[in-house]
Formats: sequence, structure tokens, C-alpha cells
Amino acid sequence: MSEVRTRIAPSPTGDPHVGTAYIALFNMAFARKMGGKFILRIEDTDQVRSTPESEKMILDALRWLGLDWDEGPDVGGECGPYRQSERSDIYAQYAQELISKGHAFYAFETPEELDQMRFEQKEQGLPQKYDGRALKLSQEEVQAKLDAGIPYVVRMKVPEEGTCVVEDMLRGTIEIDWSQVDMQVLLKADGMPTYHLANVVDDHLMKITHVIRGEEWINSAPKHILLYQYFGWDMPTLCHMPLLRNPDKSKLSKRKNPTSILYYQRMGYMSEAVINYLGRMGWSMPDEREKFSLDEMVEHFDIQRVSLGGPIFDVDKLSWLNGMWIRENLSPEAFAQKYVEWALNPEYLMKILPLVIPRVETFSDVADVAGFFLKGMLPITKEDFATVKLEETMLRKSMQFALWRLEALSTWEKDEIFNSMKSLAQSLEIKPKDFFAPLFVAISGTTASVSVFDSMAILGSDISRARMRTAVNVLGGPSKKEAKVWQKEFAQL
Ligand code: GLU
Repeated sequence: MSEVRTRIAPSPTGDPHVGTAYIALFNMAFARKMGGKFILRIEDTDQVRSTPESEKMILDALRWLGLDWDEGPDVGGECGPYRQSERSDIYAQYAQELISKGHAFYAFETPEELDQMRFEQKEQGLPQKYDGRALKLSQEEVQAKLDAGIPYVVRMKVPEEGTCVVEDMLRGTIEIDWSQVDMQVLLKADGMPTYHLANVVDDHLMKITHVIRGEEWINSAPKHILLYQYFGWDMPTLCHMPLLRNPDKSKLSKRKNPTSILYYQRMGYMSEAVINYLGRMGWSMPDEREKFSLDEMVEHFDIQRVSLGGPIFDVDKLSWLNGMWIRENLSPEAFAQKYVEWALNPEYLMKILPLVIPRVETFSDVADVAGFFLKGMLPITKEDFATVKLEETMLRKSMQFALWRLEALSTWEKDEIFNSMKSLAQSLEIKPKDFFAPLFVAISGTTASVSVFDSMAILGSDISRARMRTAVNVLGGPSKKEAKVWQKEFAQL
């Protein structure tokens, strides 16, 4: 059998997600156990949403967790480049190959025409998908449009009838009707490939033997299987892992659970515990022990031990496991060293101290002024908001709106945070001072703390948002009815 090669293929469009680490872990464990290679590829064909900052955060976070890859954008390898934005010529060439073989075609519809098409399909109760209208163009008509420089996309042909049989390592045979599969765009009007084309071409060129990914990609499998057939390439083995879930069984989402690895780092979890917990997601050691290291997981890894019932990512459980790691694996000396690195490192202190020094007379005052910088969630109650001048509903509403605004910020800097909060206060016609007061309570526990905007910038987006979320909950949050009305109102601000 050829060498096993697996990959993680994150899109650098946001914070490093625990789901990415989870899938990376299983890919790495499988490759290592089989004596193969694990590859990291950056899928940044969405040029609007992809950023180098996000890529760096993802790589740093995965490394913090102890994951490492044999090939990737930062370590090189024989199948590079490992960043899709550096491979665009390759995809155009393969799209061309499919056109010339008659498996793909040019489509010239404008976005408005496609909207109209979908609207009509909806009216008629038909499934909304591309209706193949460009396939009716003659070769001359196509050529004339190309010559006239009319923008186009390239779409793949899809059988109209029959079923696609997907073989999955964990799920066995899955059947999906071709009638449910859209004539997927492969190359966009800007010449960039879509996920589907780039992913298949790269998996092939990077000699990936096993595609282990989240179950949300099952419906894409027919398109990928077809592309492999069209190109005449061997299909890698597919394996769709169960999705992580919130304790209420819904899909893990940042509205309900912190999903960024940075959050767990900033909360002071040990990376060993986080990776251990991710290894428990749908998988267990043969002896069912809860605490194990990454090396132990690799040693005993068997992908068939993955169970498909949606694994629950429960922060309380993770904390319990982390406590075990701390007690069993850290001597006081090791703890001291880790704690200093986490909290008392010069970089962090230099951010905090300029705010603290004007407010202290002795060193012993520091803990009072700066304690909230070294905490996770604060034990606030409704009473802590007693001095806030806003009426009860307005208080809940303004905090919810502030949270939504903060969740939407793409960069996390003091000025940006301040400006967004100030403009929100204006839109709500609340005096900035009154609007900011509950933010102080949420972030620092008291209205008498150092600047709340500096504090949010220093604490980082994950902890700040989580504290805001806690505050909204403590205040009672919106009722079901209010949630709907507020969302509308917020959208119109
Ligand atoms: N770029 C895709 C993602 O962000 C990769 C999916 C796959 O593994 O095929 O999840």
C-alpha cells in the first residue's frame, strides 16, 4: 500500500477554531499511527475573507496544541506551494482540461439572472439549482461570448439521474441522488477556483490518500467523486467525522460556547488538556481512560473507534480534565513557570502596568486594581449593575446590542472598539457615560476600574466577548419575543 497521507485544510478566515484542531488531531493521529505523513494546506481562495493574520493565528494555535505537520506553507515539502492562492494557475489549467473533455462548461449568466432563475424555481416549488441553461448554447455562441469578453464562470456537468454512492470509512455506504447535486461552479468569474475544484486538484497533486474531515462536507462528496472520475484519478478514502456539539446538542457555535482556541489559551488551560479533550470527542482509548497524552493517543489510535453520535464539547468537562492535568503533571516549580509565562510575562505586564501604576500607592494595591486581567469569567451578579443609570429593559438591550457589535468587529483594537461603542450609544440615544458603565461592570467587575476600552484590547476579543455574554445572561438576556424585535432593530441601526 502506498504511504498514507492525510491533511488539514483550514481556510484562514477567522479565529483558529476548536473544530479545526479536532479534525487536525484525528488526521495527524491516523497518519502517525500508519507511519504516514500529515500535511497542512491553506485554503485561501476566498480572497475577500482570507487574511495572513488569520493564517498565522491558526498555525500558531495548532502548534500550541502540540500538533505538527510534515509539509505545509511554513515548513515546505515536495508538493508545494501549500497555499492555494499561490497555485491559481494550476486550477485554471485543470478547469480547462475538464472543458475540453466535455465535463465542464462556460456559463455566462449574471447574478441577477441567477437570482431570477432561483426565484422562479421557488415559485414553482422546484429545487433551487442551476438549470443548465448555458448547456444549450452552441459552440459558436459560446465562442462569440468569450470573444466579446463577457464574464463567465466554469461549471461542472452533473448526471441528471441515478444515485451517487459514497463510501465512507466510518459510515459505510451513503447514497445521494444526483438530482440533489448542483452543477457546481468550479472557476469563479474572477478566475479563482471554488473550494471544490481546488480541494480535489490539491488532494490529488499532494497525493492525499485519506480525506478525514467534518460531516458537513458529506454533501460535497458526490461532486468530488465526479471530479476524480472526470480527471481519471484514484479517489482517496473518505472519512467524515461527527460534528462537535454544544451541551444542548446543537452544532458547536460561538454564540453558545467559545470556539476559538485562543480563548482556551487565554483562559489558562493547558494545551495538553485541550488536545486530550479533543481526543475524547467521539473517540476513546481501548481502556476507556479519560486522561491521555497525544503520544498515547497516537500509539493506540484506531479510527474505527470513532463513534458517530455527536460528541459534546462541554467546557466544564474540559475544566475538570485540565484540573487533573495540573495536579498530576505539574510540580509547583513547573506550575510556577507556566503561570509566569501565562500571566506575568513581560509582554502582558507592560500592557497592564501603564494603566495600573497611576492608581496604586503600594505593590499590595495591584491585585485589587489589576486582578480582573488575570481572571477568566467574573463572578458578577445583577446587583453589580445597581449603580447603572439605565432602565432595566434598556440595560439588557444596550448590552445585547454592544455584544452583537463586538462580535462583528473584525479587528480588535482600542480605537475601533471605542468608536463602535460610542456610535452605538449615539444610535441608542444614550449618554456615552451611561452606556459605558455596564460595560465596565461586565469587563472588569466594577464601574471604578481602569479604562474599559484599554482593558478589552488587552484582554483580547475572546475573553471580552465571553465576559459580555456572561453579563447579558446575568442580566436576563432578551426574552424570545424581544430577541426577534431587537435583532431587527439592531440590523437597522
Ligand atoms: N477548507 C475547508 C474547510 O475550511 C476544508 C474542507 C476539507 O477538509 O475538505 O473546512
